[in-house]
Amino acid sequence: MVHAIAVIGAGAVGLHSAIELLKSGWDVTVIEEHGEVGRPVQCAGLVSRTGAEMLHLPTEECTVNEVRGAKLFAPDGQILKIEKNKSVAYVLDRAKLDKALYAEAKKHNAKIMLNTSLIDIRNEMLFIKHENRGEMLKAKIVIGADGANSNIRKILGINVAAENLLHAYQVTAKGSFDKDFVELHFGNFAPGFFAWVVPESSETARIGIACSGNKNPNEALQEFMGKANLQISDVHSRLAGIVPVGPPLKENLKGNVLLVGDCALQTKATTGGGIITGCIASLALNKTISEHLKNNAPLSNYSSNLGALNKELAMHWKLRNYFNSLNENDINALFAKLRKARAEDFLSLHGDMDMPSKFLPKLLRTPSLWGLALKLAIK
Ligand SMILES: Cc1cc2nc3c(=O)[nH]c(=O)nc-3n(C[C@H](O)[C@H](O)[C@H](O)COP(=O)(O)OP(=O)(O)OC[C@H]3O[C@@H](n4cnc5c(N)ncnc54)[C@H](O)[C@@H]3O)c2cc1C
Repeated sequence: MVHAIAVIGAGAVGLHSAIELLKSGWDVTVIEEHGEVGRPVQCAGLVSRTGAEMLHLPTEECTVNEVRGAKLFAPDGQILKIEKNKSVAYVLDRAKLDKALYAEAKKHNAKIMLNTSLIDIRNEMLFIKHENRGEMLKAKIVIGADGANSNIRKILGINVAAENLLHAYQVTAKGSFDKDFVELHFGNFAPGFFAWVVPESSETARIGIACSGNKNPNEALQEFMGKANLQISDVHSRLAGIVPVGPPLKENLKGNVLLVGDCALQTKATTGGGIITGCIASLALNKTISEHLKNNAPLSNYSSNLGALNKELAMHWKLRNYFNSLNENDINALFAKLRKARAEDFLSLHGDMDMPSKFLPKLLRTPSLWGLALKLAIK
């Protein structure tokens, strides 16, 4: 049997892509190497409210907390507090999100093969291992949604530099937390990124870190928790994962294979968040494939259909490069300048977790922040 479309990977983005394609009327088969969707969890589960609503994500089934802002900590302890008077982001039970998307895909008649891993692709022929038996499956179009450590990228010979794949480590712990705010902590304990505290409630939080280079993220997290003097107990749900931090892949298509989500580095390089951006990319993927199957439009239209998202991701990458050029003293000085220039008020009013294009141009209209705008323009 020839399957019209095979999606490799039943993560949030693979499943969202499958649902969009099924709603467009296509026959979709999803292949997932694990026996259970949503496990193991490798995520802090924070998504913007605007993004989740725009994409109709099933948040009511999997929200454990809502936050209304962020506290950013400089290495010397200065704090920038960005806050709105209503909730701006959901803290999701990530396993429940994937399971809800799985149920929706099945409702739309997706064929889902669990315990099945993709081994190789030759044009329309997929070589898979299903419950330890080698099998073949034919698909006209293949979607690579197999995550940050993608096998499909390797099969296609698409290389991603190791420096664009950061190692992350996260625990869940009991303590005393401000349930309305996520925390981002910057310092030498997290070169190239930051440590985070994402509250599930005032008593429980997800505490994690990602860092570049050869630094061990588990040791980095211990270093951060010691430095921040977090009073925590009952540390559980330890997880490790990879956060893609780079420009979105230009080479996101080869022949009949299209890449989406973490596999295509469609994450925000500022924060590593990839659920919303990957799902936005799945809309472009659906448009591209639907126009191809209906009107024979070229699959290479994928890049232009991703245009608006890629512009946003490029801005995230620019901001990341700027922050990565700063040492601890520079970050302390930047926080002092931003506080003096009342950047907290500006970001509280105009900040947007996903779309820097919504607020970066406004920097130019805020004289007290011209210095920063200029630096970002030059970098
Ligand atoms: C520690 C950590 C914290 C994070 N926190 C956040 C956050 O707060 N907010 C946010 O938006 N993002 C966060 N992210 C990023 C987010 O988890 C990813 O962007 C998101 O999971 C991407 O979804 P995906 O479907 O592309 O990939 P994945 O969720 O990784 O799914 C890929 C799927 O493919 C399957 N697979 C892999 N290889 C094969 C194969 N050969 N055959 C068959 N199946 C295969 C895997 O089993 C998996 O189910 C975090 C990441 C990490 C590591």
